Amino acid sequence: MAKTFQAIRGMNDILPVESALWQALETTARDVLAAYSYQEIRLPLVEKTELFARSIGEVTDIVEKEMYTFDDRNGESLTLRPEGTAGCVRACIEHGLLHHQTQRLWYIGPMFRYERPQKGRYRQFYQIGAEAYGMAGPDIDAELISLTARLWRRLGIQNVTLQLNSLGSSAARAAYRERLVAYFTTRQGELDDDSRRRLLTNPLRILDSKHPAMQTVIAEAPSLLDHLDAESQAHFAALQDLLDTAGIAYTINPRLVRGLDYYSQTVFEWVTDVLGSQGTICAGGRYDGLIEQLGGSPTGGIGFAMGLERLVAMLAATGLPGADSAPHAYLIAVGDAAQRAALRLAEQLRDAGPVLRLRMNCGGGGFKAQFRRADHSGARFALILGEDEINAGTVAIKPLREAQSQQITLPQDQVAAWLSAALEETA
Ligand code: ATP
Ligand code: MG
Repeated sequence: MAKTFQAIRGMNDILPVESALWQALETTARDVLAAYSYQEIRLPLVEKTELFARSIGEVTDIVEKEMYTFDDRNGESLTLRPEGTAGCVRACIEHGLLHHQTQRLWYIGPMFRYERPQKGRYRQFYQIGAEAYGMAGPDIDAELISLTARLWRRLGIQNVTLQLNSLGSSAARAAYRERLVAYFTTRQGELDDDSRRRLLTNPLRILDSKHPAMQTVIAEAPSLLDHLDAESQAHFAALQDLLDTAGIAYTINPRLVRGLDYYSQTVFEWVTDVLGSQGTICAGGRYDGLIEQLGGSPTGGIGFAMGLERLVAMLAATGLPGADSAPHAYLIAVGDAAQRAALRLAEQLRDAGPVLRLRMNCGGGGFKAQFRRADHSGARFALILGEDEINAGTVAIKPLREAQSQQITLPQDQVAAWLSAALEETA
């Protein structure tokens, strides 16, 4: 036997039994994004390496050790996107979408990071993200957060809390950085290797360390919130006021710094305790300096991204309405004449409307074999075309999932209406 292959570690197949839940999640997210008038943007999976280095930051986990970087055949360094914001900003600048206008955009797709695979953390994972440009005030921050809160409601997700922080302006962060270096220098002995190195290169990153032994020294660090400039303070207070008005509860977490360098002002994460240690399902914030940093004119930006594997894991227990891809009906036809009639009937039923998932028996077989397939398919109903039915212009319908169920016979032209009523009743 020829050797078989396995998927790359940390890169998952999403199998048919799971894909219906994914689709239902994606449909709900699309609906919610549309309700706020966000428009989809589709971006390449590959960008120049420099784009990510310049936006995410040289001294971050992602750029230092998680990127899938390779030289293409011309020797140019390219990278599989580890996140969506950099490519989105690049595209908007390139196509002039930020010129004296606002944008509300969203994207969906796979991201790639060379992380240690574990539950909720993969090397290829999916994100849905949203980005808004050209609006500097806290109103758009509140809008994006409201959008995510609405999505959780629509998905029936309850065990999530919103964590909120402000990173302030870059000047405020520079002043805070000095305080932080002074503090961590006095506690050098408690730092892990990564953090000791970052003390020199990117001390704010130390606050983002997930290292268990580092949590005390992080908790006792000076708070960024005490170093906010007046403008950032006003922005942060106004955002909290808007969230209060919208009835969205939040916890202020002064240690929340996020793993990417481009953030400023508002940052937030939605966190759950039902997923174990990978509990952040959605994260984002403002990045007012990024557009200029990537060569555009100064423009405010804010965005978030959510991890779909983590959301699917949360929804797996409760399910989602519509997360079902089994056929509604399985069409059984025995014999040549019946098969020809069945083909015509199947197409007629599909003409009648887009909602019916009809699977036709292919590959022949007697009644017994075809019934067995109908049952395995998960279909609610078997539609049966035998010689009698063809002669009479009828179809027999047998419910397959009800405990007590009578087979009925209907004229062929009434089957579509009957099925749609039966499916509606249980929808
Ligand atoms: P974490 O702290 O969990 O590493 P992050 O801050 O690196 O997350 P972001 O870059 O902000 O994450 O990505 C937004 C969301 O994407 C995360 O909140 C999470 O839900 C999801 N995500 C990030 N990395 C992964 C991964 N390797 N596997 C699965 N989902 C991920
Ligand atoms: Mg990470």
